[in-house]
Amino acid sequence: MTRTSASLHRPAPAFDLLRVPGLGRLLRWRWGRLVFQAPLAVIAAVMIYDGLTGPKLAPQNLATVATWVHYRGLVVLALLLAGNLFCMSCPFTLPRTLAQRLARHGRRWPRALRNKWLAITLFVGLLFLYEAFDLWASPWLTAWLIVAYFVAAFVFEALFAESPFCKYLCPIGAFNFVGSTISPLQITSRDADVCRSCVGKECVNGSAQVLGCGTELFVPQIRSNLDCVLCLDCARACPHDNVALAARKPLSELTNAAWPRRWDVALLALVFTFAALGNAFGMVPPVYELEAALAGWLGTDNEVLILALIFGVLYVLAPVLAGVGAAWLSRGLAGGERIRVVLGRYAPAVVPLGFAIWFAHYWFHFASGALTIIPVLQSFMIDHGVALLGSAPNWRLGAILPANGLFLLELGSVLIGFLASLAVLRQIADNAHNDSRMARRAMTPWLVLLVLVAVLAVTLFTLPMEMRGMMTG
Ligand code: SF4
Ligand code: SF4
Repeated sequence: MTRTSASLHRPAPAFDLLRVPGLGRLLRWRWGRLVFQAPLAVIAAVMIYDGLTGPKLAPQNLATVATWVHYRGLVVLALLLAGNLFCMSCPFTLPRTLAQRLARHGRRWPRALRNKWLAITLFVGLLFLYEAFDLWASPWLTAWLIVAYFVAAFVFEALFAESPFCKYLCPIGAFNFVGSTISPLQITSRDADVCRSCVGKECVNGSAQVLGCGTELFVPQIRSNLDCVLCLDCARACPHDNVALAARKPLSELTNAAWPRRWDVALLALVFTFAALGNAFGMVPPVYELEAALAGWLGTDNEVLILALIFGVLYVLAPVLAGVGAAWLSRGLAGGERIRVVLGRYAPAVVPLGFAIWFAHYWFHFASGALTIIPVLQSFMIDHGVALLGSAPNWRLGAILPANGLFLLELGSVLIGFLASLAVLRQIADNAHNDSRMARRAMTPWLVLLVLVAVLAVTLFTLPMEMRGMMTG
């Protein structure tokens, strides 16, 4: 794929992770990604093995504990502090290089599917399967989920000439892409003039020796972390050493109209945010009361059907209605453009709050169960003839924070997320309207939406939440 020269003018980045002595060299090294992927691939293999052959009780099995307690807690922390480090180290894409070589002359991903609709569907589908089949409680299903990921990633990479699995399908990737829009680092060019005079555009086109960007991002035009899996293939491919992993102003991506004004991208942000509420709702007592009430009203005890109704509303209907409704009201109050444009403009404002709710929820589980990994590992080793860290696993280990600390963490996270969303909303409205009165009017429906989401989140976190994935739960 050939691109024309860049049109953006940017100052040279003040901080570039790829210039940090030692680390930058490691990251740009040809096998640099493998250094991070290989250990995760070994861990994934052990998780699959233990999931299929180990203890049936979820809090005693590596597959369930590492997936549903540790992975989720660490991934949101990495997104917050650095960026899409999980996609960078993704073990599922370890066979990607081989698959991409197979796909060099492969088909292009169908034009009709070059959007986020499938990723949204699979993201919602995965969250639904998690609830309907209690994935968190089943080492066996969790192991097969990991296997399915490896197979799907390889097959789609091999069949198609770009990276459709990462860009258009992967539900984890969809989550990480949205989360990474608040991350402090972003791929960019060091010197726009060098890109302008660059003939080969190897960062995206690749060369005989190295692959270009798998998700077909063109470095000098990147303004968003959406679709960047942080593989750093662009940095390895650039013959002019002109790619930076640069620090950027907090929340700048969300305020500078970096996203395309598309239905799918806007609704991905809203689904991400409402799914944070829905996922937490699935673990508090009212969900069981609602299930019982629905079972009575509908005269059925089909739990999958009842959960499909509940989570269909929470994950799909609510974000669509809330987003389109807010855009419609915003347009009515301030006049102007099409609903899609207004929705696309303001949808980024919900991301900090949505991310904060996910963070609060995942860290509730991580901070209350992180140490469970010690007895689980001890038990795994003992079962395989190796005694480590003392002989008897201490199944009382779990929390790294006291119970009242957990609530403060949740409350603080939601509050910070709300304030960040508010700041983004205000900036977007100010950018869109010269008249400050019109800006306030345009942002009002979105402000109401943010307040509602924040209040619902705090309410959920005041309720007793299931301690999934740990013995004390
Ligand atoms: S290959 Fe390097 S210099 Fe050329 S366009 Fe890409 S980033 Fe710029
Ligand atoms: S821009 Fe493309 S090649 Fe560069 S790190 Fe992101 S996904 Fe990888």
